[in-house]
Amino acid sequence: MTNPPTTPAHNIRIFDTTLRDGEQSPGATLTGPEKLEIARALESMGVDIIEAGFPISSDGDFESVRAIALELKKAIVCGLARCTPKDIDRAGEALRGGLRTRIHVFCATSKIHREHKLRKGKEEILRLSVDSIKHAKSFTPDVEFSPEDASRTELEFLEEIVAAAIEAGATTINLPDTVGYAIPKTYGEMFAHLIAKLPQIRDKGVVLSSHCHNDLGLAVANSLAAVEGGARQIECTINGIGERAGNAALEEIVMALRTRADYFASVLAQPPTTGIDSTRIIPVSRMVSTLTGLLVQRNKAIVGENAFAHESGIHQDGMLKYRETYEIMNPATVGLAKTNLVLGKHSGRAAFRDRIVSLGYTISEPQLESAFAKFKTLADKKKEVFDEDIEALADEQLDLAPGLWKLLGLQVMTGSGAIPTATVTLQDSNGQTVQDASIGDGPVDAIYSAIARLTGIKTVLRDYRIRAVSRGKEAQGEVQIELEHSGKRISGRGLSTDILEASALAYLAAVNRLRSLVSRERQVTQHSAV
Ligand SMILES: [Zn+2]
Repeated sequence: MTNPPTTPAHNIRIFDTTLRDGEQSPGATLTGPEKLEIARALESMGVDIIEAGFPISSDGDFESVRAIALELKKAIVCGLARCTPKDIDRAGEALRGGLRTRIHVFCATSKIHREHKLRKGKEEILRLSVDSIKHAKSFTPDVEFSPEDASRTELEFLEEIVAAAIEAGATTINLPDTVGYAIPKTYGEMFAHLIAKLPQIRDKGVVLSSHCHNDLGLAVANSLAAVEGGARQIECTINGIGERAGNAALEEIVMALRTRADYFASVLAQPPTTGIDSTRIIPVSRMVSTLTGLLVQRNKAIVGENAFAHESGIHQDGMLKYRETYEIMNPATVGLAKTNLVLGKHSGRAAFRDRIVSLGYTISEPQLESAFAKFKTLADKKKEVFDEDIEALADEQLDLAPGLWKLLGLQVMTGSGAIPTATVTLQDSNGQTVQDASIGDGPVDAIYSAIARLTGIKTVLRDYRIRAVSRGKEAQGEVQIELEHSGKRISGRGLSTDILEASALAYLAAVNRLRSLVSRERQVTQHSAV
């Protein structure tokens, strides 16, 4: 039996779905250890509810929801389920043993979904939803219900099903704008309408929640309008990642409520508060970006590289005289450190560990040892080791789930007039060493065909990106690639001061990741969900 839901001291709850809705972004597959690390970072930044996955969708999802539920002590860990007993049992099983857990059940209610997707009438949907909520209650007292595509559902039916859901025991009612169609004014009014029509929302302390998609670029605006209408929980993701155009971005919501507390205080009749420690925003944003392989656009609000950069001379002049002339937020409040030159070759293990912890990572002793050894090598090559380098070293450790292949050696011959040739030496999980050589159109192509021959795994290279993760002549090069293998996209990341080695490591990371992907093969075809 898990703890009953408690009322937090703050008035807006942040429900993060980076690991569920966010991970549904094409190409954003995360491994179990990566998900656990993100969940820890979300909990320590103060997220109230973490939607950790959709347990019925795959064994991998089930396992990671379980690991997260067992480990987290502060945040509520949530698992998603459709309105079927099998889904709910699987979610309940994944959450068993967790301290604070929630089951989130959803069922489509809009006319278009009823007729074309579910092919079910209103009565049946109502009955299914009620039965499912009651079933979920047998696992945890904390049950959230979402009428999927709520924003396109007839208001009368929405009233009816929300009333029934509350009667059945749902403690949170989420009204998703599943397809990103809503307009702020009407989306906000939908919440106000339900509160006016259904006094039981207030009487029973039911929390209304928003869940917005960004197809029209309105996800954050809609979420804030929902708060004006009476929502007290906002569902969102780090960096706004998610299916299609993504979800409402956590960092934008938190900083809008904070920066415009004056406005929202008049709406809420008290200052808006979330549990989020905003100084964790940048580190967590970076972690999610590197682990998912989804880069943040430069001009993205709050977390983009340019979000706090001032180019124009007039702005710079104003800034120098008085910051607030052009800056509505202090970069330090979102965790953007001005000086992040931290470590060098003389830095010790303790300083290294401190830095990793402050960047939001929780790594084990053996992982720390391995990262520290690499740090020493790096510090020898580079005089200055930046936060970005340390993050990259920590990220690398999260892949320590036993990989199939390890790179032992790489030799590349290239040059004008020469045919690029690569000789690659790999070690497999049994300790066997294999070697092969191949030619290619370029050095990277030669490396990849040698690896493909050695591993016997045929893939198509869909994307190849390279960037420097930190500054200086000896900056570490990060290569991110996307491979396609039988219709699935797998990403891989490699890091080295040698870009050809980084390219080889990225390829191997993707191939190694294939194994975890195969075990998490989606068993549910229609999983797009709320
Ligand atoms: Zn969604």
